[in-house]
Amino acid sequence: MPRPIIAIINIKALKSNLIRVKKIMPKSKIWAVVKANGYGHGLENVVKGFESADGLSLIEFDKAVFLRELGWDRPIMMMEGMFDYSDLDIIDKHNLQPVIHNEEQIKMIHKKKFNNRIEIYLKINTGMNRLGFPCNEVKKKYHELISLPSIKKVSLLTHFANAETNNSLLNVEKQVEFFQKSCEGIKAEITLSNSAALLHKCNIYSDWVRPGIMLYGGSPGGGSASSFGLTPVMTLKSKFISIQNLNPGDTVGYGSLFKAQSKMRIGIVACGYGDGYPRHAKTGTPVIVNNIRTKILGQVSMDLITIDITKIPDVNLNSEVILWGEKLSIDEIASLSGTVSYELMCSVNERVIRVKSN
Ligand SMILES: *Cc1c(COP(=O)(O)O)cnc(C)c1O
Repeated sequence: MPRPIIAIINIKALKSNLIRVKKIMPKSKIWAVVKANGYGHGLENVVKGFESADGLSLIEFDKAVFLRELGWDRPIMMMEGMFDYSDLDIIDKHNLQPVIHNEEQIKMIHKKKFNNRIEIYLKINTGMNRLGFPCNEVKKKYHELISLPSIKKVSLLTHFANAETNNSLLNVEKQVEFFQKSCEGIKAEITLSNSAALLHKCNIYSDWVRPGIMLYGGSPGGGSASSFGLTPVMTLKSKFISIQNLNPGDTVGYGSLFKAQSKMRIGIVACGYGDGYPRHAKTGTPVIVNNIRTKILGQVSMDLITIDITKIPDVNLNSEVILWGEKLSIDEIASLSGTVSYELMCSVNERVIRVKSN
């Protein structure tokens, strides 16, 4: 028997969130971002949910090949391009579209003899200062690349740092202005918005948009997922493997971080940070048992958490415990643990079985 922890992946919810993106940007094509194993949801699952996306976008070459094996025959964008010269063979063979963001990658393209002409994205650094060419080099790089016989098409891309806030150090409007100036006069397709920009700055048009977190029903910030009309996709649930009774003064788990003030009944759940539940979740973090909201107690350990079931009737080892999902926002658990839903989704461990639901 596997441990009772599972992540249920709601395919309908993936589809509904994709439709949400289409409603916001009816004229744009959609790169559904599926890096990090589809934000932890499993590529086999997200391929089904994103059937009607125009392309899939990720950074891992082995996973891009896996997407082709799964039968995905539409565009695939590699958002960090090649890490090594040999990656160009995979690009050529599987018809992948790399994002070119540094000089080394341009050199690799010059050197390579391709069997098929490739489509690439040129990444522009509009202020995030992680990847991409400085604005004043864009025209030169674009013309250098577009003139190569091996290159069929060059599109342009940049990434926003603060679309969910109005950060005065670098806001979306400033980045768009830098972007437009850098590619003035170039006739190429562009891709700009991530989830935060789609939800907060829907006046910005690009030929392709690049939503990630919103497709999985998580919020990029600046409002709750439900207020954005998004549907949660993953429900993480498990069961108890032990039930204990505490007397006043008894403590629970490592560090004895929780001490009972009165008689209590506690349930020990097969779920811990080794599954991806955040270790920083403190006493009081909500969970749902038998449809009733209760809370965790004491330290999260690798394989177990402890839950207060004193006031919940009819709890037994078979009772269901929901860690996050439909009725318990993953954003809420993330925020109580000092992180974001992105991290919780990506951290769901391999040992947690993903089960598809329609
Ligand atoms: C991850 C990523 C996205 C998606 O971002 P979300 O905030 O999840 O919508 C878009 N573009 C790039 C370049 C990314 O790395």
